[in-house]
Amino acid sequence: MLVLKFGGTSVGSGERILRVAEIALGLHAREPVVVTSALAGVTDALLALATAAAQGDRAECDARLAAIEQRHFDAAHSIDPGGDWAALRDRFVALGDAIATACDAQDGSLAMRDGIIGWGELLAVLLVERAINRVGGSGYAWDEPLIATDDHYGEATPDAAKTRTLATTAWEAFQAWRGSQPLPGIFVAPGFIGQAVGYPLTAQRAPDFLEHWINSTTLGRGGSDYSASLIAAALDAEACWIYTDVDGVFTADPRLVAGAQPLPIISYAAAGRLALCGAKVLHPRSVAPAAQAGFELRVKNTFHPEHEGTLLVAASDATHGLPLAVAGRRKLAMIVLDGPSLPTIPNLFGRLCTAISAAGAEIVLAAQPVPGHDPRIVIDAVGADAAQQHIQQEFAHEIARGQIAGQRTIDGLALCTVVGDTLASTWGTLAQRALASEKITPRLHSAAPEALTYIIAATDLDRAIVRLHRDVIEPALRELAQQRARPYANGQWAAGGRTQQRRRTIPPQH
Ligand code: ADP
Ligand code: ASP
Ligand code: MG
Repeated sequence: MLVLKFGGTSVGSGERILRVAEIALGLHAREPVVVTSALAGVTDALLALATAAAQGDRAECDARLAAIEQRHFDAAHSIDPGGDWAALRDRFVALGDAIATACDAQDGSLAMRDGIIGWGELLAVLLVERAINRVGGSGYAWDEPLIATDDHYGEATPDAAKTRTLATTAWEAFQAWRGSQPLPGIFVAPGFIGQAVGYPLTAQRAPDFLEHWINSTTLGRGGSDYSASLIAAALDAEACWIYTDVDGVFTADPRLVAGAQPLPIISYAAAGRLALCGAKVLHPRSVAPAAQAGFELRVKNTFHPEHEGTLLVAASDATHGLPLAVAGRRKLAMIVLDGPSLPTIPNLFGRLCTAISAAGAEIVLAAQPVPGHDPRIVIDAVGADAAQQHIQQEFAHEIARGQIAGQRTIDGLALCTVVGDTLASTWGTLAQRALASEKITPRLHSAAPEALTYIIAATDLDRAIVRLHRDVIEPALRELAQQRARPYANGQWAAGGRTQQRRRTIPPQH
């Protein structure tokens, strides 16, 4: 079995959905399970709808819902112009009911929000199913989330054992149905969404087409990659291919860096780090199920399916020691405490981190140059206000006694990271020179064998990435090219383990 996940841009229009159907049908001998995202932009549109519902703004909800409906019917009519789309219409009636309930109650809970934004995937499965029928297969759309989760709405945590039960039950139902089909049957499942199985039901209204009430959850934005990987693990699939709109994991975002190249191979760990540092191509949590279960995980291009894409592997000898890619993440803030008496506060750093995480803020990087001095904590800016409040409570006495002279948040920051596996320290020197030549002075940096991370002004981020790619990644790629006769062909880097060829020199400066 092969799990094929298609992202929003891959299913962005009727024409594209037909292409997706052709890819899946072409692989039917390997028992594909198609996991689909919502159509591009639809989750954002549903999020805006959920916000309007929470405000009880009925007119806004109606207008937004009509636009989403139009978008789906445009796609539907290009997939099957003369077809009967009553099921899609029914689904919009059920969505309309769910929105009306939220709007009347002015329900802005995360549970209600998840209940609304997960509809993008439940609508998409119908379009993909029909497209499969149109290209000569038999589509079978599963109407419910296959992922069992906890009730942490907004970014739920999956439960592997319960997910296995949900997924195998669905798969068995499909197999029973497939037996009666003259054409190749293809299972289509919604990505991104989960259900909090076994948790007390919230006030959410069950959509009419579900047979029972569920608590709809989501796995966090961009989470359909993760759901595909979880489904592959639950169904013991041989592989999970994440189809997107580029040729795999690149050495930098190809939209930003013209010279970025697709990597034929990358380790799970490096890919996970890259994703956590802002490379949108893969959800950060999607690599763990593959690393654990051992199925093949690959990133491929829907619009160039013959390209091998990027294979994720446990470890790659060929890229050992080399920087592989650079990524950036915006919307960060730095929490800074001031005052000459800071070192007199016992366990300052630990208490600070605890207060910030108690506020629900995500700590991205934390440092103190020497113990007890000048702590600097970089966090996701979303949590900055809550973090400051918690710090004020935690250190009320120290502030009153003047041990802490001031606390500040520095906004408008970004993180820029060069990722590799077991990076030699000399690459750090090269990276710092690259930033200096752009006159970019990091406010904080951290160097580890896994990654070189720089906290810089968000306005400098694009420039930093382009320069680091030119001065650090491209020399590393040239070095790899020298090591190998066919450096990027057919995913060959992993083969043959060229450990004896690791000796290298730092390239000259530009
Ligand atoms: P999907 O809708 O298929 O999930 P995403 O938009 O989430 O697609 O991710 C694909 C996009 O990620 C690409 O179009 C690309 O611009 C961006 N991206 C950022 N960094 C990288 C990278 N290192 N390699 C490949 N793509 C990247
Ligand atoms: N549709 C969801 C989102 O936009 C999940 C995904 O596309 O991966 O976040
Ligand atoms: Mg994505």
